[in-house]
Amino acid sequence: MGSEFKILLYTLDADSARLASRAAFDRIGRLDKVLSDYEPDSELSRLGDASGGPAVETSEDLFDLLRRSQEISDRTEGAFDITVGPVVRLWRRSRRTGKMPDADLLAAARSRVGYKKMSLEAKTRSVRLAVRGMKLDPGGIAKGHAAHEAIRVLKRRGIDRALVAADGDIVVSGAPPNDPEGWTIAVGPVASRDARPVRALKLRDAAISTSGDLERFVEIDGKRYSHIVDPRSGLGIVRRGSVTVIADDGASADALCTACFVLGPDRALPLIESTPKTAAFFALVTDSGLRLVESRRFKGYPVVRP
Ligand code: AMP
Ligand code: MG
Repeated sequence: MGSEFKILLYTLDADSARLASRAAFDRIGRLDKVLSDYEPDSELSRLGDASGGPAVETSEDLFDLLRRSQEISDRTEGAFDITVGPVVRLWRRSRRTGKMPDADLLAAARSRVGYKKMSLEAKTRSVRLAVRGMKLDPGGIAKGHAAHEAIRVLKRRGIDRALVAADGDIVVSGAPPNDPEGWTIAVGPVASRDARPVRALKLRDAAISTSGDLERFVEIDGKRYSHIVDPRSGLGIVRRGSVTVIADDGASADALCTACFVLGPDRALPLIESTPKTAAFFALVTDSGLRLVESRRFKGYPVVRP
């Protein structure tokens, strides 16, 4: 998944802490093997290789992630789309060259993107990618999902005071012993590395994800294109700043967050307000300064000094 995972947990003795964290890291490692889009031999990559052909039977881990992805795509009208791989690859190249993707290549890539071109059959756990050359990109959902799976491994071992973090994706179980209100999490804006967080809140039994344009973007003719793309237009998002989403589970927080960055606050907020137990916070960089937008439930979290 190209990122570092950190686990914090509380147990009564060091040995069970070590054993438990090892089991949680093993789970993350196994998911990484299945879901990697960098490893040509991963199950996810091989599914891409089979695009345009008949349906392929998949492992529970891969099927589960794809099912979650499709749900979020449906709910966000395709703003989140795990089939966005061909377009993301073109923009990765643009970040190296500093040039816009070639129009013909972009059109070709777009024709291979679209969650409706991926069909899932639950009974046989089989997946069909309808168009040859489709590529799945787990980057917008896998880290939150894996962090949540790690928390589940710990829970099964009776450890219910833990935090798992992978860059901008964090999942927590019960509150740490020194603070019954929950874990203190500081939130964006991530407009610059040393920008101070504008909010800090207490969280337990929840997942929180932040997406934004801090680290990965390309500037072309004065416009700054993010590594997050609109799957429908194939263009990098030009919005600046970050969005944070809180949800019940890691995959939802991660994927909804990526979708919210694509949609922007005006289109994202109605979706967030109508999704139970979900909250969002935008910290956008505009010409006239920072613009903060909070969803109704976000305002309800206990806020502490950052
Ligand atoms: P995140 O940091 O969770 O917002 O994920 C960003 C990553 O998700 C990018 O680096 C791409 O690999 C992938 N991605 C970009 N745009 C989208 C999108 N619209 N839907 C799903 N994944 C995306
Ligand atoms: Mg995400």
